Amino acid sequence: MIVVIKGGTPAEEVTRIALDLHQTWGVTVEKSVGEHKVILGLVGDTATLDRMQIQNSSPWIEQVLRVEKPFKRVSREFRHGEASSVVVSTPNGDIHFGEQHPIVLTAGPCSVENEEMIVETAKRVKAAGAHFLRGGAYKPRSSPYAFQGHGESALDLLAAAREATGLGIITELMDAADLSVVARTADIIQIGARNMQNFSLLKKVGAQGKPVLLKRGMAATIDEWLMAAEYLLAAGNQNVILCERGVRTFDAKYTRNTLDLSVIPVLRTLTHLPIMIDPSHGTGKSEYVPAMAMAAIAAGTDSLMIEVHPNPAKALSDGPQSLTPEKFDRLVQEMSVIGKIVGRWSDQPALVSAI
Ligand code: PEP
Ligand code: MN
Repeated sequence: MIVVIKGGTPAEEVTRIALDLHQTWGVTVEKSVGEHKVILGLVGDTATLDRMQIQNSSPWIEQVLRVEKPFKRVSREFRHGEASSVVVSTPNGDIHFGEQHPIVLTAGPCSVENEEMIVETAKRVKAAGAHFLRGGAYKPRSSPYAFQGHGESALDLLAAAREATGLGIITELMDAADLSVVARTADIIQIGARNMQNFSLLKKVGAQGKPVLLKRGMAATIDEWLMAAEYLLAAGNQNVILCERGVRTFDAKYTRNTLDLSVIPVLRTLTHLPIMIDPSHGTGKSEYVPAMAMAAIAAGTDSLMIEVHPNPAKALSDGPQSLTPEKFDRLVQEMSVIGKIVGRWSDQPALVSAI
């Protein structure tokens, strides 16, 4: 249930109403301050709450509404229709993810292979216009014999790449045992498709302070994905970005996955959380990445994740879907054309807080 507070209500009144709701009804009250309104979200056993009684308890209450969806905190209604922003501090400045902000670009190799390649790639993608460097230290591979990532030492290399470029770092956490070392280096912790429903991992990541990129499971419905995000918010972490990376469909002959771009308008109606699209894992082939990246911008994505490797033919993972730095550079030029048309592009998007 949400309680919409009237515009212009004094802050101490809002605090008093929140305390009163908690004491009278035994619910948890979460305040969100939107652009136009303050919303109090009530979480707990809300089935027996009397809407009218709450409505009449203060003249400062504008409306009391039920959130009908099974996911509460992530639902659009929970913020009374307003999108949320996830703000991530990086050495280059605060980066804002969300519907009100310019598109954020994340690029880098699938895996961190060695210092030279990660620092070089970071410099190249930064020069092209990226805001975040992605790179895996712990890799979820289908085969136990495939390269598993360099682990903790790769995190140090990511830190060196951040030092050299100022880019924020996104890297995947697979095992809760590695949470503290990953959180030390990552500016955003990625939860991969294979762990989207690892609920014990979600609870732990939700209980720490770093923002989280939650990838969609390869066969997850949108409701399952949003319920997974709900775990993160329920554990206390409001800074969650949803990343579509393709799902399994009947035809995997020509593309690795089917990139579901229809999630963009669907998620807009269901959730306030920012959206990222990953056309690299979504298609599995570098030649299809540009078309899908541009389509994602046209469809209204808030951010993109694109795999870039200095020598894709020699990559230790996901070479076939990785762009060279030159191709990424060209793609950013092309994306800027569409991004400007949809009003979501800034040549310094990272540092512009709102359009
Ligand atoms: C990745 O980002 O390299 C990755 C393994 O992604 P996903 O979990 O989407 O497969
Ligand atoms: Mn990959």
